[in-house]
Amino acid sequence: MQDQRNSQKDAYALILEAIDSHVYTPGDRLVESELAERFGVSRTPIREALQRLETQSLLTRDGRSLIVASLDHSQLSELYVVRGELEGLAARLAARHATPEEVKVLRDMLEDDRKLVDDPAALSRANRRFHKQIHLASHNRFLVQQLDLVHRSMALLATTSLAAEGRGEGTLEEHAKIVTAIEAGDGDAADQALRDHISEAFVTRLKLDAAAVEAAE
Ligand SMILES: [Zn+2]
Repeated sequence: MQDQRNSQKDAYALILEAIDSHVYTPGDRLVESELAERFGVSRTPIREALQRLETQSLLTRDGRSLIVASLDHSQLSELYVVRGELEGLAARLAARHATPEEVKVLRDMLEDDRKLVDDPAALSRANRRFHKQIHLASHNRFLVQQLDLVHRSMALLATTSLAAEGRGEGTLEEHAKIVTAIEAGDGDAADQALRDHISEAFVTRLKLDAAAVEAAE
């Protein structure tokens, strides 16, 4: 069973998921034999997955070791610029192309996610699901691919901005605004609401980073 589930194809997905859920955080060393043991996968697919992750700049070399990459300040800004543009476009297209069923899913997510407002880790996962649903509702597969790339790089942020005090409430209000605009078929409003949401997340991220620097000093 184990072999079937953790097939060669999945070694990449398993490691990525572990980075995404912060089992491994930026700076952590990834050792082939330990990963093979942890995931019950043989070393060859692990090695191939590590190479692929290195090519994608999710891992970086530190001497002979591979470590989880981190984003410096400029990379962080660059990432949020791209994210704001692409997510805004996804919302605009979703306002035009989302089916009533897709809008219903978004509405249901808003309702369900209210229960998670005080659980940053759960809310962070719910947030990803919510954004993914908007990407899909754009009905543009090239945009979905690009957004997947952006979100993969987001995994390199060691903390979620949703952990900041009061950010959960703000996030849910902003999500509601986005869904209302999509439901109304108002592309301009949906685009703007999503851009504003990403901008708020970025501001929160910068404040968290500033606080972390202060704490370390
Ligand atoms: Zn969000």
